[in-house]
Amino acid sequence: MFAQVAFPISSYQAFSYKIPEAMQKDIEVGVRVKAPFGRRIVMGIVISLSKTNEYQGRMKSISELVDPQPILSQALWELIQWMSQYYLTPLGQVAKSVLPSSLSLQYKPPVKWEARLKKNVSKEELSSIPKRAKAQKKIVALLLEAKAPVPISNFNEIISNPLNVCKKLVEQEIIVMIEKRSLPDLSGYTFDLAQKDIVFSDEQKATNKKICTAILANEYKSFLLHGVTGSGKTEIYIEAARTALSKGKTVILLLPEISLTPQIAGRFKSVFGEDVALWHSKLSVAQRSWTWREICKGTFKIVIGARSAVFSPLKNLGLIIIDEEQESSFKQEAPAPRYHARDVALVRGRLEKATVVLASATPSLESYYNHISGKLEYLHLSKRFGGAKYPQTHIVDMIQDQEESGKYGLIISGLLQDKIEDRLSKGEQIILLQNRRGYSPVMRCGDCGEVVSCNHCNVSLTFHKKNKKLICHYCGFTPKRISDSCKACQSPNMKFFGTGTQRVEDILADTFPKAKIERLDLDTTKSGTKITKILQSFDKGEIDILLGTQMIAKGLDFGNATLVGIINSDLGLHLPDFRAGERIFQLIYQASGRAGRGEKLGEVVIQTYNSENPVIKKAAQLDLKSYYNIILSERKELNYPPFSWIAKIVFTGPEYKTVEKISFRIVQNLKGKFKGLEVLGPAPCYFEKLRGNYRSQIVFKISKTLDANGGKLHTFLEKNFFETQHKIGNIKMNINVNPVSLL
Ligand code: ADP
Ligand code: ZN
Ligand code: ZN
Repeated sequence: MFAQVAFPISSYQAFSYKIPEAMQKDIEVGVRVKAPFGRRIVMGIVISLSKTNEYQGRMKSISELVDPQPILSQALWELIQWMSQYYLTPLGQVAKSVLPSSLSLQYKPPVKWEARLKKNVSKEELSSIPKRAKAQKKIVALLLEAKAPVPISNFNEIISNPLNVCKKLVEQEIIVMIEKRSLPDLSGYTFDLAQKDIVFSDEQKATNKKICTAILANEYKSFLLHGVTGSGKTEIYIEAARTALSKGKTVILLLPEISLTPQIAGRFKSVFGEDVALWHSKLSVAQRSWTWREICKGTFKIVIGARSAVFSPLKNLGLIIIDEEQESSFKQEAPAPRYHARDVALVRGRLEKATVVLASATPSLESYYNHISGKLEYLHLSKRFGGAKYPQTHIVDMIQDQEESGKYGLIISGLLQDKIEDRLSKGEQIILLQNRRGYSPVMRCGDCGEVVSCNHCNVSLTFHKKNKKLICHYCGFTPKRISDSCKACQSPNMKFFGTGTQRVEDILADTFPKAKIERLDLDTTKSGTKITKILQSFDKGEIDILLGTQMIAKGLDFGNATLVGIINSDLGLHLPDFRAGERIFQLIYQASGRAGRGEKLGEVVIQTYNSENPVIKKAAQLDLKSYYNIILSERKELNYPPFSWIAKIVFTGPEYKTVEKISFRIVQNLKGKFKGLEVLGPAPCYFEKLRGNYRSQIVFKISKTLDANGGKLHTFLEKNFFETQHKIGNIKMNINVNPVSLL
């Protein structure tokens, strides 16, 4: 027998080895082995087996078998190969990204032992315990009283070394010891939810039926589940998962960020218990390795996690669900492979004949277009569950508001303030969105306009009030002290501009002194369990006003939250990216969706300086279809996705001149390479300097009418970029296929 082995190196190739007699029955596809490679012994993965081999030369033998069972299935291996090719990244690097960083066999979750009496133990047996064995007698006495197995650690208080004593009792066949595996404890990341009684509405039934039929058909099928906020998408996921499990299939549920959606994970846990594994960034390296192995063994049937959970080594995969499929966190930006978990999920679904459900209240424009063009089957949940009404929305034109009230620079408008007061007096809860953390994002000289910016990045420093520090939100740089005069003109007239969550928090505390206010942003939630705590206490009604960044906008379900306020809905609206408008629309729409999910009618107040902007207007009307039609025609006109394929090449290096020179030279060589290829740039990136490196970019673009499946662009990239080094001198070059942002 022969084995083909792939190594974590920059090569597409796999190498053949003889399998020694003794290992023949143990070596399977997907196990890791050690084998001589060059002059060293290197670890690799067996990717196929064969009886014969055409290789004529002297063939080496595998030296050692590492894994007792495969850590990678055939389908996952094919997926890795596809990613390598599609995202123009060497195979070894993709494999490294897919597999957990360590697959050591060292970690075993702590085992807990429990004890109970042997069934039908007789009086004679009990009296056979010698009198002097006092410890044994004590344990038996306790177990006689206990109704359920007792953790052996409980005996620590009454005797020393209970484990040994119990072992003796096992030898005498009086008690039985039970091994209890304790899973990595992630209880801090889920809500404890009571079981719910679910009776599907007609619309839910029809949706559920379509998905379940697809799962049962054992064929690849992909859906876009467009369900308005509060329509019960989570319940649909649960029923679909139940169907998959009933046929012995397994399920992956991808969430944008697992800490932010403890309710969904909690719902799954309450229904499927120990069948669920959370693939969580808070797992230690060792726990990850253990979880991966247990998934391979088949211990878990459902894996819930962010982006990288799409690689879970589940066998017999029947269903992949991507919740909030429009979220850009599904795209890995660095390091390579710069993959999109949504695309990977669709490919994996095809490879494994699984059903893939892309779900959202605000689908990405790509997926929306794929439904229009028939690539995804469309499922629509058009109504909120239980007759909950859509919230009523109000736009506050901040310019007009200030002129009328004569109060300039107000952060919270009169209308929003009244509405908050009203809801507080009724004992209802409020969610406020300000999508910027810190106190104030800009410190600027009042005389010459000079902005205090990061030494390493070309961005302004954000003021944080609590520790009185200026912080760079890109690299973390913070100057030792805040200078009280301008660097350029020495004027002492330094001022803070702009508003972050901390400043809003101060204003709220002054305006509503009796209200219990909690802030949720990156700064208050360094640990993921803190998020769950805050959300849970909001759920219990212990918080009146929950203020936060986009972290609070999605996936949360609180029946008593009736008012949502969007303090500054324009943030990010004017960024030079073709998706800027789409993102703001989705954020406003999603945030609005947090209001009035229970029986009480909800309300949304949207503050803006751009009240005539179609993004704001349509979002306020919750009119997704008409907004999507507007941007579809815009994108078509400008030949942007979903009407074209794009790829972005970013050059970074410590000197501005060389970055500019190299990117310029490359563009010169590539212009006009083939008909229809648009080359944009080179141009300095929006973030021109980050972490001490200058950045410049080129964007390639080709219309789908010329290149239906992107194959032409792909071949072009492969030819011109993949085979060159990804480094030219000290300039690094990143290839980003289907980038989610051009910033
Ligand atoms: P979405 O994710 O679509 O915004 P959820 O799945 O959070 O909506 O559902 C909104 C609320 O309605 C949840 O509390 C959910 O448990 C409840 N719900 C949805 N469908 C049903 C149903 N058929 N029976 C009972 N409760 C339901
Ligand atoms: Zn100045
Ligand atoms: Zn910086």
